[in-house]
Amino acid sequence: MNEISSVCRIDRLPSCIDFHATVSVLRLDLLHPVVSGNKWFKLKEYLSEAKRTQKILLTYGGAFSNHIVATAAAANSSELKSIGIICGERPPVLSHTLLAAEGFGMKLYFISREAYKTKIVPAEVLTHHLPDDLCLVPEGGYGPKGVEGAKEILLQHDTSAYTHIVTAVGTGTTLAGLTAAASDSQELIGISVMKNNVSLDGEIRRLLPEEKKEKFRLLHDYHFGGYARYKPALFDFMNAFFTRIGIPTDFVYTGKAFYGVFNLLKKGYFPAGSNILLLHTGGLQGNGSLPKGTLIFG
Ligand SMILES: *Cc1c(COP(=O)(O)O)cnc(C)c1O
Repeated sequence: MNEISSVCRIDRLPSCIDFHATVSVLRLDLLHPVVSGNKWFKLKEYLSEAKRTQKILLTYGGAFSNHIVATAAAANSSELKSIGIICGERPPVLSHTLLAAEGFGMKLYFISREAYKTKIVPAEVLTHHLPDDLCLVPEGGYGPKGVEGAKEILLQHDTSAYTHIVTAVGTGTTLAGLTAAASDSQELIGISVMKNNVSLDGEIRRLLPEEKKEKFRLLHDYHFGGYARYKPALFDFMNAFFTRIGIPTDFVYTGKAFYGVFNLLKKGYFPAGSNILLLHTGGLQGNGSLPKGTLIFG
């Protein structure tokens, strides 16, 4: 696989004039079909460390994790080895996500839910590798190194004219990076894809320097029932958005964030003249877990 380039285009959406605001989408989804845009940025620092030290990337995730498959693909593109610690028993048939990860050469180990919570390196891994040969990437790429990489998202283009920057939020590492990189006049909005994730605010603040800790806002109203949950209205929106605008979204992250932005526009949340930059953070591979025909795009 070729090296992954980090420059993506920005699509200014045509239809938002009625809302007295403009919305532009930063198409990080176009970086690579499986390395979701924001995951690639969050992994950058780990990749360069592993390349420098020739260590094996080891990380954690679930059976449909964008982070797992992104790590596998990114390692593969840098000719590095990777290990994925997967939550739960090995299923008789692997998910399309895990098959793709294996296709990129990732070695998978399955551990019980209880063991997974502790984020230990399983004994089985340590019978094959010395701890010093492993470069550990936290689940979801959460942490200061992920923030460093995510800062670069805003540096690909001149983004100074945007009044609002919006992204879907899982661990919040991406939002922390955007907040750290944005100017003081810009408003940062994160749309949480989990239900009542009350610890999120503190987890993001922990990643930011003092003067940035108050500079982002989290919205918790667009989770559609919780992480990876959905309702028909979400698919209706995603299909309609694709029909009108031609941009595919995923049901776990970007579908919820995009729905949120258009719902907020309708409610008059954004002042007239707002110039909104909405991140398309990728994740489209996750749609592969939906029943065929749910979405009108592939
Ligand atoms: C992981 C992911 C996110 C969330 O990123 P965090 O930095 O964990 O908040 C958003 N969108 C997509 C498509 C993702 O895969």
